[in-house]
Amino acid sequence: MLYEFTHEPRIAYFSMEIALRNEIPTYAGGLGMLAGDTVRSAADLHLPLVGVTLVSRSGYLRQEIDAQGHQIEHPSPWEPRDFAQSLDAKVALPIEGRAVWVGAWLYVLEGYGGGREPVILLDTELDENRPQGREITHYLYGGDAAYRLKQEMVLGIGGVRMLHALGFRIRHFHMNEGHSALLGVDLLHRYAYPEQDRRPGEPAYDIPRVRELCSFTTHTPVEAGHDRFDYALVGRVLDNFIGVEGLARLADENAMRRSRLTLDESILDFATLKHLAGEDALNMTRLALNLSEYVNGVAKRHAEISRGMFPGYRVHAVTNGVHPLTWTAEGFRALYDRYLPSWCHEPEQLVRADCCIPDTAILEAHRQAKQVLIDRVRALTAVDLQPNIPILGFARRMTAYKRPDLLFAELERLKAIARQYPFQIVLAGKAHPRDDGGKRLIEQLHAQARALDGVVPVVYLPDYDMAIAQTLIAGVDVWLNTPLRPFEASGTSGMKAAFNGVPNLSVLDGWWIEGCIEGVTGWAIGADGGSADIDARSLYDKLEQVVLPLYYGSNDGAELVKVMKGAISKNASYFNSHRMMRRYVTEAYIR
Ligand SMILES: *Cc1c(COP(=O)(O)O)cnc(C)c1O
Repeated sequence: MLYEFTHEPRIAYFSMEIALRNEIPTYAGGLGMLAGDTVRSAADLHLPLVGVTLVSRSGYLRQEIDAQGHQIEHPSPWEPRDFAQSLDAKVALPIEGRAVWVGAWLYVLEGYGGGREPVILLDTELDENRPQGREITHYLYGGDAAYRLKQEMVLGIGGVRMLHALGFRIRHFHMNEGHSALLGVDLLHRYAYPEQDRRPGEPAYDIPRVRELCSFTTHTPVEAGHDRFDYALVGRVLDNFIGVEGLARLADENAMRRSRLTLDESILDFATLKHLAGEDALNMTRLALNLSEYVNGVAKRHAEISRGMFPGYRVHAVTNGVHPLTWTAEGFRALYDRYLPSWCHEPEQLVRADCCIPDTAILEAHRQAKQVLIDRVRALTAVDLQPNIPILGFARRMTAYKRPDLLFAELERLKAIARQYPFQIVLAGKAHPRDDGGKRLIEQLHAQARALDGVVPVVYLPDYDMAIAQTLIAGVDVWLNTPLRPFEASGTSGMKAAFNGVPNLSVLDGWWIEGCIEGVTGWAIGADGGSADIDARSLYDKLEQVVLPLYYGSNDGAELVKVMKGAISKNASYFNSHRMMRRYVTEAYIR
């Protein structure tokens, strides 16, 4: 069954979350979407890649919102059997002094044009494990630090061992964020110098060899955002980790027994771990940086910031992209198929959209996408949005730095603008269960929506997911993003907007620094170093003086359609995951 995928060497792409499809709720936000788009582009481009992630059986969370705007969190379980095939390999790793067994599922992601990409979903829900061990792969980003560390052991170490057990030959390892950095520790063990060949004081591991094999993409522009584990905790959880050559087939009882017996062997000493991962705490980003020859940030500005945060490391910039077909609404797909037929393989073709596609066709495709959104909003909330009034959209993880409340900073000003140029607002997004600030923001947004009642229709769609994102981002007239600089490493939802001819109105951070050509692809908010007040005023000024007048202009939409085409031809042609993957291949995977 696996031979289709194991007969040639592959690139192993490790990510704590991979948004494979809407029915598999194993993602929390942009990181997982990016990972999904990475594998989707790999499939379209027939790149030999294998994804590795946790099965996250309980999903992330299903969000309900009550009348006061309180987020109510429900589990979001899924059944791997419905979408993936169970593989008959198991590997063991010692956690808290006993073997935890890891099994695997195979999900096959099918690309455009017949490409197929294997994704391995690691699963500890096995009879061999005690309840604590079984739970490790249940909750995405759940639990305490110990739980997270165990998850990261299963992902990094369990992942490498599983790939070997399944017969994959891996030519390169790509860590999408630091969660999987322990994979490097397992590789060090594999490339250790035999003890008898070593003189005292000589390194025990072939670190340069491991570095050659690894690439690391960092996503976090602030030091405090990186995963760190206290060494006391590490000592307890990895107790004797560091033992077991845990590859074993399920049927092999002897191997199981053997693995328990060899728990006291160690594959990495603490001194080496501290040398690579930080003296005061196990910093997953440090570990990944030290074990990767190729390191990159996810936008040019983010790479600059990362260079400042990690002096002495060479940090490249590969700006993110989104998967063309996935994020393009039906009407636009049909248009691109007709006027730029190879766009799915070669989205660069979209550069010609401004000249080759008639204005009326663009406006009609947008009208369709907007109607789909209006119908969806009615079905979900019983609110009737108006097709001939512009819709502003804002949806992403609800957390403080994203500042979803910036648009509502001065309600009187917002009302005054709406009386002159009516508009409607659609919002969505989940807060992490432990992010109280994020939950308060959702409550505030609901209160502010009530305060705007009768002047500006505001709807908040519950349970933001991939399917809502597809409908929402394509169907609005302006896509809004107002993060606090420099916290938006890249952002990708604005790129999805571009594929649907929806201009961005956004703070200049992340990808938008590269994507914004004022008045051509969309509009910028604020100035460098601007406070929240300055950003809010700038947002209102832009809405009132530039953006909304364009929608109410007397030129049959000719000026508006120019910006829509600017977004497609200048941004969709570039900010796509095909370009991103071609760069990873030529600059990171094959060097
Ligand atoms: C694209 C996407 C995101 C990322 O949005 P940003 O604005 O880049 O943070 C988050 N969640 C879902 C469901 C998405 O589709």
